[in-house]
Amino acid sequence: MSNLSTENRSTLLEEAGRCLKCKVPRCKKACPISTDIPEIMKLFLEDKDAEAGEVLFENNPLSAICSIVCPHENNCFGNCVLGAKQKAIPFFKIEQYISGKYISEFDCSKPEKNGIRVAVVGAGPAGITMSIILAKKGFQVTLMEAQDQIGGVLRYGIPAFRLPKDKVDAYRDILRKLGVTVKPSCYIGSNLSVDDMFMDGYSAVFLAVGTAKPNRLGLLGETLGHVHFAIDFLKAPNVHDLGDKVVVIGAGNVAMDAARTAIRVNSNAQVTVINNRREQDITAANEEVVMAVEEGVKFQHLLSVLRITDEGVICAEVEAIENENGEVVFEENMLSNRLIEADTVILAIGQGPKSAPSGEAQIETTLRGLFVVDENGMTNIPGVFAAGDVVSGPKTVVEAVVYTKKVAENLERYCLEKYGKVAE
Ligand SMILES: Cc1cc2nc3c(=O)[nH]c(=O)nc-3n(C[C@H](O)[C@H](O)[C@H](O)COP(=O)(O)OP(=O)(O)OC[C@H]3O[C@@H](n4cnc5c(N)ncnc54)[C@H](O)[C@@H]3O)c2cc1C
Repeated sequence: MSNLSTENRSTLLEEAGRCLKCKVPRCKKACPISTDIPEIMKLFLEDKDAEAGEVLFENNPLSAICSIVCPHENNCFGNCVLGAKQKAIPFFKIEQYISGKYISEFDCSKPEKNGIRVAVVGAGPAGITMSIILAKKGFQVTLMEAQDQIGGVLRYGIPAFRLPKDKVDAYRDILRKLGVTVKPSCYIGSNLSVDDMFMDGYSAVFLAVGTAKPNRLGLLGETLGHVHFAIDFLKAPNVHDLGDKVVVIGAGNVAMDAARTAIRVNSNAQVTVINNRREQDITAANEEVVMAVEEGVKFQHLLSVLRITDEGVICAEVEAIENENGEVVFEENMLSNRLIEADTVILAIGQGPKSAPSGEAQIETTLRGLFVVDENGMTNIPGVFAAGDVVSGPKTVVEAVVYTKKVAENLERYCLEKYGKVAE
């Protein structure tokens, strides 16, 4: 099953028609953003697509994206009660259809301005969500983005074969129609800081700068010419001369994207994923692993990297041992050196935030560099809020949206209390 739907409307209507209208819908309960799935199916069956699209957008401005990239097997699809005995309803395909149509036809009159300026830094899922919510309420939003296009990981991380980029482009139009000023190629933190924003009359700043700093192994060989970080590789895969042997280190979702992309860059390449745990411990979504295997990616489990050389990756074998408490612990066998040959090595072992784009006062961060915020989503600097991966650490698109929605309420309340203006 692919997350990208190609089904036509009548097939989707048939699927919606199978809904049992459960009294306590488990699908809705399992949705991180509590999408009112039964209500959407009902509207869809009544041919009220536009209304359904609006309900979805109001609850989750990134519904069109989440319906494609959410881990559905853990959420709506995996929790459809029909899945136990028959086929679960792929609600996400219905959502893709409705929301895809809604964002491509999105229209609105420009909201009346309330006179309060807010700066949003970072145009990934969190920044786009905040900009849409605030703009709809009349705030004058400037969305500042370091890259030349909006989307964050949606644009520069998730490969186009999983998320077609026209879905991300549509948000550029939505933001424009809502009166958001998008300032591309604007990196905050080198010569512009949040201090400058307050001096320019912004009442609050929302930081949604994500986690774009790849984790290192901290081993010899990482600076060699054939070694790349997955999130950098994914930004522009075709500029890399991969050769025929590609080794991806790590077994999470980013590693799967890197491996599947490498095969598309060089269809002759033998791509091997090195996993330092057992097959059943892989953290990537099962669906992604299945697709990778189908496309020819090989897996080497229970191997721990010791160093990278011009020839490839030198690994130690790892043993999974059950300790006296019945827990599985992993031990490297340092005497078992093995070379996995590689023309290209891609590191996909997680990521953390780059430095905080604060001004004179520094934003408080955790040891991992994540921004520390209070229960309102405000950092230690008054008026500076944050959400998304930079607060939670790498998570999912829907989680970035859920948290941003909460922070948006608090940011709005902060502005209205402090500046005494009433939002529309
Ligand atoms: C390769 C990959 C695949 C993924 N696949 C999935 C998936 O299938 N499903 C899913 O739900 N989640 C997936 N995720 C996770 C998901 O994409 C993130 O959780 C989500 O993008 C977080 O949103 P964000 O807005 O916090 O950060 P980001 O998407 O990282 O956006 C941050 C934005 O801030 C900008 N920025 C950073 N610093 C500055 C600065 N100083 N000044 C101005 N702008 C700045 C960046 O350029 C970027 O555009 C994936 C992540 C990766 C890396």
